[in-house]
Amino acid sequence: MTTEEILKRRTFAIISHPDAGKTTLTEKLLLFGGAINTAGAVKSNKINKTATSDFLEIEKQRGISVATSVMGFEYAGYKVNILDTPGHRDFAEDTYRTLSAVDSVILVVDSVKGVEEQTRKLMQVCRMRNTPVIIFINKMDREGRDPYELLDELERELNIHVRPLSWPIGMGARFKGVYNIYEKELRLFSVNKTKMAKDVVEIEDITDAQVDQLIGPAFAAQLREDVDFLEGYYEDFDLGLYREAYLAPVFFGSAINNFGVGELLDTFVKIAPFPQPREASQREVRPEEDTFSGFIFKIHANLDPNHRDRIAFCRVCSGKFERNKFYYHTRLDKKLRFSSPTSFMANEKSLLEEAWPGDVVGLYDTGSFKIGDTLTEGEMLQYKGLPSFSPEIFKEVVNRDPFKTKQLEKGIRQLTDEGVAQLFVQQPGSRKIIGTVGELQFDVIKFRLLQEYGATADLHNLNYYKACWITSDDKEALARFISFKGSSIAYDKDENPVFFADTAWVLRSVQESYPALKFHFTSDFK
Ligand code: GDP
Repeated sequence: MTTEEILKRRTFAIISHPDAGKTTLTEKLLLFGGAINTAGAVKSNKINKTATSDFLEIEKQRGISVATSVMGFEYAGYKVNILDTPGHRDFAEDTYRTLSAVDSVILVVDSVKGVEEQTRKLMQVCRMRNTPVIIFINKMDREGRDPYELLDELERELNIHVRPLSWPIGMGARFKGVYNIYEKELRLFSVNKTKMAKDVVEIEDITDAQVDQLIGPAFAAQLREDVDFLEGYYEDFDLGLYREAYLAPVFFGSAINNFGVGELLDTFVKIAPFPQPREASQREVRPEEDTFSGFIFKIHANLDPNHRDRIAFCRVCSGKFERNKFYYHTRLDKKLRFSSPTSFMANEKSLLEEAWPGDVVGLYDTGSFKIGDTLTEGEMLQYKGLPSFSPEIFKEVVNRDPFKTKQLEKGIRQLTDEGVAQLFVQQPGSRKIIGTVGELQFDVIKFRLLQEYGATADLHNLNYYKACWITSDDKEALARFISFKGSSIAYDKDENPVFFADTAWVLRSVQESYPALKFHFTSDFK
């Protein structure tokens, strides 16, 4: 039973630079999967740059993002789980954490813009984890870049090998459709924002005269030349190489016109990996093991002020999760039971009785969970791979209301448990420093401290360049460094020492002067 359930699951994320078409593609996949009936059901989770100080906008965004955090649907006998990632760069850390809970990704690239800044950064994370990638080149209905040039750019900039599985015929106003190299099918393009394209013509051979009739002799000749070249230039598509994250199959289409999305989904469910084994600090855990285990990759506070509980999102890694069963919270060394776990199907939440590897379970939480926590049936396990990154923006928290000190402490603790930001405490004096990767988080923090905890705090800018964790095999050298650099040292939530560098130059010179010390830019060393 477990094996069958595992084999049919596909848990993935769609990633892209903002505006490439992630939201549109997500929605179209849900349409194809029959999970929603009309376009427009999936809300963009984007925050406008101009809305930075618009708290209501942020709250709206948070509301949307919980609704669309996980979108599950059944398609062709498969259970597909799409994990949503925030588009805004200030929430990059959320995205990284979500990527730790998927087995593969679909990368959307804008055919006009090619590889962009976030495309590069997100792919770096996928490369670090060896996550298999399928690339969808979107907006072929626009006058985009030459497809050969785009493929070259993808290989060069993303450090991955590509293999087109479909090929565009013209583009922009002259876009005729795509030729599915694999299935030897011609799919003709029509502008169609609401229905699914059905104009598929199977052809035995690309030399077939039908091709000339369908797309015109000039396009037909070009297509033959292209396919000929592609078959000679690229090796045959190799499933193993894709699964090893060495090779990325590429599709062309236009998400807004429902074009190329069906093929993408059909191929995706066939080739994308089912739930894979995961590394815990103690050992590798296989999905088909009998006992349940999972980890928390995202925590979302409730927007309703009358219900202060939070939802912790747990990715099931092995065994079967069951409602009302006691599970072991390994960090707290405590048993917990969940009476109303939630599943997410399309944009509906419902009570869940059981879940299998690859599924995401929403657990109501009153403060027991931190990002990265592990649940098991009793075994002492700690899943790896949810690092914090060295923050780049720092502010000191200054309490404005001495009567609300407790609320402020609690608020800061819970927000940092959720992973909104990182907290560092400096001794003596318990000076609190919050570090993030983006400005937007500070707006969220201030707003939520007031709204949810009734605490007001000033956040004073600190001009540090970076904070990095420090370790050393030579305990004395570490202690000497800490006492010498006193005012530039603080401790993270787990009491690990962190060095705050004022400038890149300071960091470099300290690294050179203290060879016995290691400076870490992610918390992975733990
Ligand atoms: P996201 O930021 O990556 O989620 O991008 P969206 O899905 O919100 O799309 C950004 C913009 O591109 C929107 O205005 C979409 O309507 C538009 N868009 C999406 N897909 C296509 C496409 O295939 N062709 C064209 N011309 N525009 C598209």
